[in-house]
Amino acid sequence: MQYEHILIRYGELALKKRNRGEFETQLVRNIKKSLKAHPKVQVERVYGRMYLVLNGEPYEQVEAKLKKVFGIHSFSPTRFLQTFDLEAIQHAALEAVLDVDPAPRTFKAVVKRPNKQFPHRSQEMNHLIGGYILRNTDELKVDVHKPDVEVRVEIRVEGVFISCRTIRGMGGLPTGSSGKAMLMLSGGIDSPVAGWMTMKRGVRIEGVHFHSYPFTSERAKQKVIDLARILTQYSGGMKLHVVPFTEIQTQIRQHCPEHYTITIMRRFMMRITERLAQKHGALAIATGESLGQVASQTMESMYTINHVINTPVLRPVVAMDKEEIMTISRQIETYETSILPYEDCCTVFVPKSPVTRPKPEIAEEFERVLDVERLVEEAVAAVESIWIDPVAEEPEHQDFF
Ligand code: ATP
Ligand code: MG
Repeated sequence: MQYEHILIRYGELALKKRNRGEFETQLVRNIKKSLKAHPKVQVERVYGRMYLVLNGEPYEQVEAKLKKVFGIHSFSPTRFLQTFDLEAIQHAALEAVLDVDPAPRTFKAVVKRPNKQFPHRSQEMNHLIGGYILRNTDELKVDVHKPDVEVRVEIRVEGVFISCRTIRGMGGLPTGSSGKAMLMLSGGIDSPVAGWMTMKRGVRIEGVHFHSYPFTSERAKQKVIDLARILTQYSGGMKLHVVPFTEIQTQIRQHCPEHYTITIMRRFMMRITERLAQKHGALAIATGESLGQVASQTMESMYTINHVINTPVLRPVVAMDKEEIMTISRQIETYETSILPYEDCCTVFVPKSPVTRPKPEIAEEFERVLDVERLVEEAVAAVESIWIDPVAEEPEHQDFF
């Protein structure tokens, strides 16, 4: 059966009244962006409802896109009848239930009737629809407690909506409804997950990646571009700022004690990211930092690194176990790219015994030999900013027969 409509639910109860209009506008914009390849789809907002009219665009492809739009809590392929004829409604309900795959064994009709002009009351309609389905099928039975499928019929002023399936969306808030953050994006498993979780709360992100060519290869950079591109499936596009980090790393290595090199390097990353945040209007920095995963991830280390900036740092994965992070990473499809074995600037010069309890005063002392301000400014000035478009569409399958 061809579905012409998709009903979108966006957990409006969770939204504050004041922001609701803004959220809805942003959600519509994001849905349109994610459906760019399907220009005939229309987004309609009628009586506080949001639904899509497909106008002949393929349902399955639109469904796959909608599953990746933040702010959609669930959606249903829906038949829309512009008639209030009882038999037409009954017949459409039957068709909808027959279309469910795998075929259900039990069902229940759930009728709502906000349109009080309609002559039959909800309870009566439950029976009229349930009875019709029972008469016209062999195997189906009614189960009002735990049915395999609920046949939902909503009789509204503008027409009748019929749906049997509810597909879970990603939840969260529409990207762009909560401001912007800079995501420190390495090639690892954690930071793409942190970026996705930040976006889930409605935050738009721009990536910042530190690249130490030729210590790290072009392929390592390409891997980060690929990760950013996977993330754009959820955001519709994103900027990635690639910061040349070779000079700073070389200076640190030449002039600072080995056990503090990682700490000092991280402090530089924070300073530069903060500058980029200011330049691009972001009010926070997001990282994939965690506690205790490796020896260098201690509270003291986080404190010493954080000490050089005033911008809030969001660390969405700090409370998660590695297993949990990996599960999300697989779900959002960054995992396979993250585990490709290209070197990262943090792994190029690994000190033999990095300090596990660094102190800000000591880091400052060691940084004194460096011209910190000049190094930061030069790095910021040499940033390469790339606009990353969402993953290219699969070419249309040609059928020659
Ligand atoms: P990830 O899996 O994200 O690489 P990690 O477990 O390897 O994280 P660290 O190496 O301690 O942890 O890095 C902590 C965070 O610092 C990263 O999650 C990322 O946000 C940031 N970071 C590390 N290296 C880079 C880099 N080269 N460019 C940008 N950000 C980086
Ligand atoms: Mg890493």
